[in-house]
Amino acid sequence: MNHIRNLHTDENPEYTACEHGDDYPEREWLQSGTKVYDKLREEWLRTRLVNGIGMMSPHAQTSKVESFHNILLHFCPKLLVYSYQGMKCRLYLAVLHWNENCDRAQAVDAEGNPVYRLKYPRSKEGGHTVERVLTAGTCGYVKALMRVVVELVENRGAAQRQHGGATASTSTECLSSSPRQWRSRASF
Ligand SMILES: [Zn+2]
Repeated sequence: MNHIRNLHTDENPEYTACEHGDDYPEREWLQSGTKVYDKLREEWLRTRLVNGIGMMSPHAQTSKVESFHNILLHFCPKLLVYSYQGMKCRLYLAVLHWNENCDRAQAVDAEGNPVYRLKYPRSKEGGHTVERVLTAGTCGYVKALMRVVVELVENRGAAQRQHGGATASTSTECLSSSPRQWRSRASF
């Protein structure tokens, strides 16, 4: 609202000055307090428009949430039904996979140049966008999980030997209590 009135700086810390330099062409500027300016101000500061611009801001992009949902769908395809436990475990796996891979760096070629690729999204109707190619994803969490499982099994084995099996059978009760329910659904 300032630039159009020939004001190119502001006290607002989020917007201290215009991006342009000093060499902008001469033109007629709007005056505050005029009917045209007030009308324009009213249109530009409409809540819906302001909220829409907020959504376009790079600080509030939803693309990360969308990519997480894609990862989640990979682990929990919508066409299959899982038990509560199965769903919970798959959600955990999706989170582990996401946390390990969400901050991947851009890939570089043999000469060390950053790699890009062209994409042709349907929304561009034949047009293209340039996308950064990231380094390959990793699944290091799988090894870490396996290690935990082995440790748990070993500890349980040790506990079983110590207490003659009584403690171990109670601790696995929750997992083996409803085999019929498990069988009727897609297995985890
Ligand atoms: Zn300006």
